Amino acid sequence: MYFSFVSGNPALDLAGTVATRRDDPVDLLAAPADLERWVAECDGLPDRVTADPAAFASAISLREAVYRLALDRVLGRPFDPGGLDIVNGTAAGPVPTMRLSDAGLQVSGDIRAVLSHLARSAITVLADPHARLKECGRAACTRIYLDRSRGARRTWCGMDECGNRVKAAAYRARRRASATAVGRESGAARDDLPPLSR
Ligand SMILES: [Zn+2]
Repeated sequence: MYFSFVSGNPALDLAGTVATRRDDPVDLLAAPADLERWVAECDGLPDRVTADPAAFASAISLREAVYRLALDRVLGRPFDPGGLDIVNGTAAGPVPTMRLSDAGLQVSGDIRAVLSHLARSAITVLADPHARLKECGRAACTRIYLDRSRGARRTWCGMDECGNRVKAAAYRARRRASATAVGRESGAARDDLPPLSR
């Protein structure tokens, strides 16, 4: 399992660590070590944090609150009060420190600071009336992303993650359909096949 960072916002990427939420949820953050790896891979966060079980539980609760609020935004309904409490409460904590040097950006802080930063990122995007939040067009995916494309024409959370899969499936379906059509024309469509034992 690999993490993808295609949502355009780190808090939405965190929410995206549960895949296929509606049908058969797959949780990519099964243990504190997964969270540590996710933080290390996410741009703009410290390279190395340690997560104890309590911090891990807070991260999961923040993640679910962010997802709930983002879905509220997508569906145009009022924010869930419990979700607001979690996100606002987490955002009130200390945040990571940032340092600029010739080597670039260096971000440091512990897991609590990381969660606070993620909660603030969630607030920033969810409070922006111009932010176009969408759910991925591949129905099973359920990832919510920020569409920054010109004219907001983006349909998928990511081409590699979903767009190409949907296109490949549509191509296969078209091929099947045309193969069936050809079969019917020659009298050999599946339903018309004679019994094998004849
Ligand atoms: Zn997707």
